[in-house]
Amino acid sequence: VTAEIVSVGTELLLGQIEDTNATAAARVLAEAGVTCQRRQTVGDNLDRLTEAVRQALSRADLVLTIGGLGPTEDDLTREAIAAALEVPLETDDELLARLQESVQARGVPWVHSLARQALRPTGSRVLPNAIGTAVGFICEKGRKAVTALPGPPREFSAMLDEHVRPYLATRGGGVRIVSRVLRVAGMGESLMEEKVRPLLGSGNPTLAPLAKSGEAHLRITARGEDEITIRHLLDDMEGEVRARLGDVVYGVDEETLEACVLSLLRDRKVTLATAESCTGGLLGGRLTSVPGSSDVYLGGYVTYSNEMKLRALGVAERLLREHGAASEECARAMAEGARRATGADWAVSVTGIAGPTGGTPEKPVGLVFVGLADEAASVATQHRFGGDREAVRHRSTQAALALLRKAVLSGGCGSS
Ligand code: ATP
Ligand code: MG
Repeated sequence: VTAEIVSVGTELLLGQIEDTNATAAARVLAEAGVTCQRRQTVGDNLDRLTEAVRQALSRADLVLTIGGLGPTEDDLTREAIAAALEVPLETDDELLARLQESVQARGVPWVHSLARQALRPTGSRVLPNAIGTAVGFICEKGRKAVTALPGPPREFSAMLDEHVRPYLATRGGGVRIVSRVLRVAGMGESLMEEKVRPLLGSGNPTLAPLAKSGEAHLRITARGEDEITIRHLLDDMEGEVRARLGDVVYGVDEETLEACVLSLLRDRKVTLATAESCTGGLLGGRLTSVPGSSDVYLGGYVTYSNEMKLRALGVAERLLREHGAASEECARAMAEGARRATGADWAVSVTGIAGPTGGTPEKPVGLVFVGLADEAASVATQHRFGGDREAVRHRSTQAALALLRKAVLSGGCGSS
């Protein structure tokens, strides 16, 4: 089974948005064993859109369209698919009634153009949208089929999983390709690559290292005829990688470092506080972005000036005078101070020079110290990060989370 993707929207052609939906669709096709042979992007123009769908249909068994199903004049995907398949459009009365109901329920006046959303090619099947108003549809003709999904990414990906994935499974097809990503923090990309080098030549599954900001990923990609075979291939390779890398593998696929660290702390019933200088709250922001973080994370301090470090965290004036704010001593004192002030079991701190200005020969831009304190001890690590201000700030939060994770796994600050 072959497929093509048609992304619809002038916004895409103008470079105003990225085509994240097509990426998601391509992945789902690969996982279903459907060969995606081509992708097109077309603006909101009926002739060009019809032509794009017609051409795609002439080559592939299946065409997936993305976007252009809303109520406005420039939402033309329905018309284009009907024209390309040479079937008439008709109003779905049930859909129309439901649309009118939902508009009424929201207390907005009904405008005639909204009825466009109840139009669909004759003989097509509706794909309900649990989040938004624009429904999708699947229209089959002979051995060919077109699926149409709305553009807003949250709606698109929900409908892709809920409707298109099962549909592709019924159309079935040969070899599937599935990937799994192992996420590594607290070990540099080159050392990671060195340790897994013997596995990099493997044919199925393949293993590919990817450098990310402040962490590294290993993507395992397996090919197979069925899910069980593929899962075994992925599991075996994951086992091999973990045996070589140990516990620097912190997560799989979409798991974030902050979520993994919080769940480790939660399991051990440990509370956490933060003290941040050059990251200005970025670390606290990442921690609080995880649902349920309040069981673990008590709060933190953004102490940007020396004065604030002194007043809020009790960092000694003499320490700041002798070592400066970007120092191991200050990082430790900040973590100890945050622990004292909040009563948290652990506190982690970040202080350094994010740049682009403010560096000196002794303390260059990118020099960052991460501190950690628990009941028994405090430690600090020194880092030299490259990149611009945002990169240094992000990497600093990564280093703080990785240090925390390592210390928690080894049972305490002093033993890490
Ligand atoms: P709506 O009912 O919201 O109009 P629609 O099906 O008509 O839905 P579009 O108008 O094409 O969809 O797009 C709606 C929004 O969805 C766009 O403004 C854009 O932000 C986002 N979007 C559209 N296509 C894509 C895409 N391929 N990848 C990522 N985002 C997209
Ligand atoms: Mg629209």
